[in-house]
Amino acid sequence: MTVRIGVIGTGMIGRDHTRRIAQVLAGAEIVALSDYSPEAAEKAKADFAPGATVFATGEELIASSEVDAVLVCSTGSTHEAYVLAAIAAGKPCFCEKPLATTAEGAKRIVDAEVADGRRLVQVGFMRRYDAGYRMLKRVVDEEIGTPLMVHAAHRNPSVPESYVTPMAIHDTMIHEIDVLRWLLDDDYVSAQVVYPKASKHSHAKLADPQIVLLETAKGVRIDVEIFVNCRYGYDIQCEIVGEEGLARLPEPMAVTRRLDAKLATPILTDWKDRFVASYDVELQDFIEAAAKGTASGPSSWDGYVAAITSDACVEAQEAEGRIVPISLPQRPSLYA
Ligand code: NAP
Repeated sequence: MTVRIGVIGTGMIGRDHTRRIAQVLAGAEIVALSDYSPEAAEKAKADFAPGATVFATGEELIASSEVDAVLVCSTGSTHEAYVLAAIAAGKPCFCEKPLATTAEGAKRIVDAEVADGRRLVQVGFMRRYDAGYRMLKRVVDEEIGTPLMVHAAHRNPSVPESYVTPMAIHDTMIHEIDVLRWLLDDDYVSAQVVYPKASKHSHAKLADPQIVLLETAKGVRIDVEIFVNCRYGYDIQCEIVGEEGLARLPEPMAVTRRLDAKLATPILTDWKDRFVASYDVELQDFIEAAAKGTASGPSSWDGYVAAITSDACVEAQEAEGRIVPISLPQRPSLYA
């Protein structure tokens, strides 16, 4: 079966996912496109999917009998309504992060999916599909004994002036929030944020760097450094300390040079290059599940838990070092 896919939102990531489904992946075709700006949808059609229909609205695209499954790649604030419409139409839906911009919105999606009784939603937490994180998970699960501590870092060379303190959680650390929970098979119970000396490259509305301290239900302590003006490169670090040993996320593959009296390995500078291969794997997974009328991978529940955790982290950012508890509702059996 070829899954007929409609893409809502043909901006940066929506265009790239359209290209990957049209040109790289197997088992699906792009039959429909929609964007707030019709020119963007027409351009994606001309570049990657000449046979696709451009719909004036995402709602019409979801309702079309030509569309089997939906990709929601529009601006974050629009995700919830489109995902709810896809669930109501009984169509598998891949939603870029965030699932919704509030925990209440994500809960509405979980409730709708549970009421429908089957998994239809995959959230775009692509790190779970990264080869390095998958290798790390296998070693954590099988070799280093019970995890005790995690030291992680998310560093960007720089960010635009419009990037302010809460975005360090909602836009940056959201990926650590999901992937560490998945790596440890655990849930968070509290968050605390502490601020080192601020970088001179920061500004009045951005505390940078910051350290987020999380505690899990199993008692693991996690520190995540978020440093979005680190200057030297885009650098993702993750080290898990277990009872029997320690495991580190592999560095991206790069050629080491012995040149000009230096031993050097390049570091990436653009986040888009870091997890590029994982987007292919995550969407192939979506296509294979959608062909069976369902979804796999990161679920609505994971998107909901990430939203609750993000809210607690943002509260902790403003709480002058106070520890903010995180409590989750009972996990529905659909997500066991
Ligand atoms: P973008 O370039 O701004 O693209 C968003 C597109 O959606 C724009 O063309 C926008 O049109 C359109 N849009 C806005 N409202 C819409 C609506 N109601 N219906 C249909 N289209 C609408 O943003 P992006 O960087 O691609 O990001 C899109 C989403 O993907 C965000 O939620 C972002 O967090 C997520 N993302 C995830 C990753 C990841 O690593 N997983 C990476 C990048 C982005 P206008 O420009 O005319 O408003």
